[in-house]
Amino acid sequence: MNIKNTTDTNAATTGKMNIFDLLKNIWPYVTPYKWLIAATVTLTFIGSLMAQVNAVVLDKAVDAINALIQTPGFSWDKAVQILVTISAILLGKELVSAFITFFQRYFGEKMRILVSRDLAVSIVGRILSFRMAFFSSEENETGKLQSRIDRGIMSLSNTVNNFFIEILPLFTSAILALALMFMANVYVGLVALCIVPIYFYVTYIQAKRMKGGRRSIFGSHQAVSQGILNIIESITVIKSFNREEIEAKRQELIQEQMTGQQLGVRKQSYFFNGLKTFLEQIGTVLIIILTAYLVLIDYPGMTIGKIMYHVMLFSNVSAPIRQLHRIYDDMNDALIYAESFFGILHADHEVEDSGKHHPAVVKGDFVIKGVDFTYSNGTQALFGVDMHIEPGKITALVGLSGAGKSTVVNLLDKFYHPDCGSIQLDGVDLRDWDTQWLRENIGLVLQKNHIFSGSIEENIKYGNPAATHDDVVRAAKQAYLYDQVAQLPDGFETSALQLSGGQQQRVAIARMFLKNPPIIFLDEPTASLDAVATEQIKASIDAIKTGRTVIIISHNIGQIIDADKIFVLQKGHLEQSGTPDEVYRQGGIYKEILDSSARSMNVDKIAHTIEEV
Ligand code: ADP
Repeated sequence: MNIKNTTDTNAATTGKMNIFDLLKNIWPYVTPYKWLIAATVTLTFIGSLMAQVNAVVLDKAVDAINALIQTPGFSWDKAVQILVTISAILLGKELVSAFITFFQRYFGEKMRILVSRDLAVSIVGRILSFRMAFFSSEENETGKLQSRIDRGIMSLSNTVNNFFIEILPLFTSAILALALMFMANVYVGLVALCIVPIYFYVTYIQAKRMKGGRRSIFGSHQAVSQGILNIIESITVIKSFNREEIEAKRQELIQEQMTGQQLGVRKQSYFFNGLKTFLEQIGTVLIIILTAYLVLIDYPGMTIGKIMYHVMLFSNVSAPIRQLHRIYDDMNDALIYAESFFGILHADHEVEDSGKHHPAVVKGDFVIKGVDFTYSNGTQALFGVDMHIEPGKITALVGLSGAGKSTVVNLLDKFYHPDCGSIQLDGVDLRDWDTQWLRENIGLVLQKNHIFSGSIEENIKYGNPAATHDDVVRAAKQAYLYDQVAQLPDGFETSALQLSGGQQQRVAIARMFLKNPPIIFLDEPTASLDAVATEQIKASIDAIKTGRTVIIISHNIGQIIDADKIFVLQKGHLEQSGTPDEVYRQGGIYKEILDSSARSMNVDKIAHTIEEV
């Protein structure tokens, strides 16, 4: 299904969405289901007509019975005929209504499910097209983004459902009932019409008063679940410090606060509901008094039956008003969530850009000139960095944590653009490169998170979905993973999540063999592994390095020393560069890092132990 992106982007970005913006934005998601809408609207109209049947029947029945008992020579035959007719009409009407309600609800729900699916498909497609900066900004942290999307989809699709199975039937029925009242008697119609705005006003005040309360209850609910989550997460610390009582007290306080808020909101809600019921009764009493008066003065067309007729019609007029408060609340929620949801959907400025450069052969000759880079939160990570990363060689980026090493890799992968300066690959500015083609030619092995839930084979195949089983086996062999997988009872069908950290890392490397890119970035590939796994993985890293341009970030001296060239970064500045030996001889930060690594590893003693034993 293809939804055109013709919706209003302004509303989504200016921060204030009104009901018309909401409808305009949601319209493209509803229009593909024209037949469903037509069927629902038709059913709604028939349903609204049915809702008035009771009033008409009662009107006619009362008048007919009244006439019957007033005529001399009362006949049971006639009475039975009236009763049978009434029963037949009422039961028939109930049957039709049940049928209509079923389809109305079913179609409304179908619409909700379809719209919810289309919204989800659109938003997922959309966020996948966004640049990296979108995901790293604070307001889009995983949990927050997920909840913005979930709530947006739920609230918007519920609005569609509510509209078709609640708002539309209730209001159509109310308008029809009011029209019938006017047609029967203009004065009674006018009285009913005058009462309606009062209900609206009371509902408006109720919604306004209760909004703050609902918000604070919502906030407290979040605090409660966050609090429980925190307790579970930090249970070891809580227990080891014997802080159970403090934590319990903290939760008790939140609960107490919420109790007060809940009672306050309930009190207001019952007060307003009572007030509305009272006002409705006043409306009914006014209608009874007026119609009775008109009957008494023998007003043309007014009969005893008409008293019942108007009272019943009036109850149809006031029915949606009883629901108005809830509808108003739902709408308010929908506006809040829709604003945030469509804000994501229309964030055109977040879409990743791409050039056209698409060469058949990519060598991997990177030239970085005078690059500054600042993250969206204002942290400047690089200052005037110059580097030449030569093709077919191994380059190591060295520096303490936070020096800017991963940032360099992020820029080379075009996840972000530099603030100033330029980055060229094979003589062409990265901005001019076809982004997808660039990434097709780069393999990225990170510290962790490479594994998706699924089998080992599926995970390796992520490197090349068109690969055959033989390709997967070959890649696993190249990554020194095959022997271990072959020993598992389910072999390549084993869930990849069951593998150890070191094995998972080798799955990631096997994936790289399948992808077979000429450029490889290794960002601390062994940081989370123990010494044995690190050594095992070294063989697979060495295998993948050959014949490619490799950039490695590592705290592991063994891996740095193997590089052809190293760049030493400190606080975003490039401090030193050259072969590992040259840079070591220069002294400075690299020497410090290397010496302290050797000291922390107690290299002398280790060497002594190894020699002695
Ligand atoms: P390294 O890889 O050398 O440890 P990074 O390149 O990850 O360093 O980080 C360099 C600086 O940029 C650090 O100050 C870090 O806090 C900051 N930084 C890294 N990633 C982000 C991000 N996504 N958003 C904001 N700041 C970031």
